Amino acid sequence: MKKLVILLTLSLLLGSCSTLPEADIPIEAAKVVKAMETDVPKEKTIPVDIAFEKPVATSAKLVAVGDILLHQPVYHDAATAQGGYDFSSMFTKVQPYLEEADIAVANQETMIGGAELGLSSYPLFNSPYEIGDALKETGIDVVTIANNHTLDKGEKAIVNAITYWDSIGMTYTGAFKSEEDRDTIRTVIENGISFSFLSYSYGTNGLPVPEDKPYLINLIDLSLIKQDVEAAKALSDVVVVSMHWGIEYESVPNQTQLDLANELSTMGVDIIIGHHPHVLQPMDWIERADGSRTFVMYSLGNFLSSQEGVERLTGGIGGVEITKTAYPGKSVISLSNPSFVPTYGYYKNKSDFEIIPMVQLNDFHLPNYLTYYESTQNHMMTFIKDLTFHEK
Ligand SMILES: [Zn+2]
Repeated sequence: MKKLVILLTLSLLLGSCSTLPEADIPIEAAKVVKAMETDVPKEKTIPVDIAFEKPVATSAKLVAVGDILLHQPVYHDAATAQGGYDFSSMFTKVQPYLEEADIAVANQETMIGGAELGLSSYPLFNSPYEIGDALKETGIDVVTIANNHTLDKGEKAIVNAITYWDSIGMTYTGAFKSEEDRDTIRTVIENGISFSFLSYSYGTNGLPVPEDKPYLINLIDLSLIKQDVEAAKALSDVVVVSMHWGIEYESVPNQTQLDLANELSTMGVDIIIGHHPHVLQPMDWIERADGSRTFVMYSLGNFLSSQEGVERLTGGIGGVEITKTAYPGKSVISLSNPSFVPTYGYYKNKSDFEIIPMVQLNDFHLPNYLTYYESTQNHMMTFIKDLTFHEK
């Protein structure tokens, strides 16, 4: 009897996991379950002296935000009396959402070459180191730095940026200091689940990548991505790929994005984080033939910038829960609970910059904010109707 109860309990657990092929249920167990289905209460627990190990499930929440795009008004607003910069107050209202996640990822669109190289704005950006401190303090764990602005100030700014990220213990990916650095895939382990992070950009605004230093930026190249994803899969449970792609100011993914997302899903990528359009594009699932799926955030918009127009000041915190269920000899990853927190990049007279969750807005920040907030929610639900807007 004890054995039968164990087998049924295992089968219930297996049944809740959509990615496990049926063939993995032991034949003996499957037969017994059929016979016992109605006889054994579901509440039965697994006794400790079982013949095989009990499946163990752990989960982690990953969130991601869009572009950190430091135009001159943003860093002027952050200037301190001591001659440095302090961006931390701009993140105060979103910090709780980033801190509560197990892993938070941001796209640092502009390189932090530091004031020593001369700060600059569009079209060739160079940003202060201190934005790195603010991101770290606010709960960001990984920055993606393969963007069309990565080469704006050349190799020196990239090296300065990477040196700074290293000095504050921030995981970066997408631009590198050497071939060896590029080939070292970044991994983060949370709650017993290992994540790999990769990042690629469609281009560099026409600035040539030095032929002898291709590692300075990862460009979108499917054969390179496939090679990296294969290596990442061997290293980790979950592969997360950031894509700097799409057409600026388009609110839905274009065919190239859809095709690339499908290619990445086929390679085995679990989560795709998209940016560059500077406006939000909806999120979606890509289902694989074996029942597993890829979560795609096509574009997370601008998180911090001084662009103009409400759509370009809209961003958000996209999230998904990752569950790893370990069985004897194997483990299965499943994704669930997609979420989104719409944010608004408030400023007035090009100062007082602050990223505000839309649920905390009022008409002073943005006249008729409620109408816009609701339309943003509806837009993000275009493909995923059960998207949740976890807000407080
Ligand atoms: Zn961009």
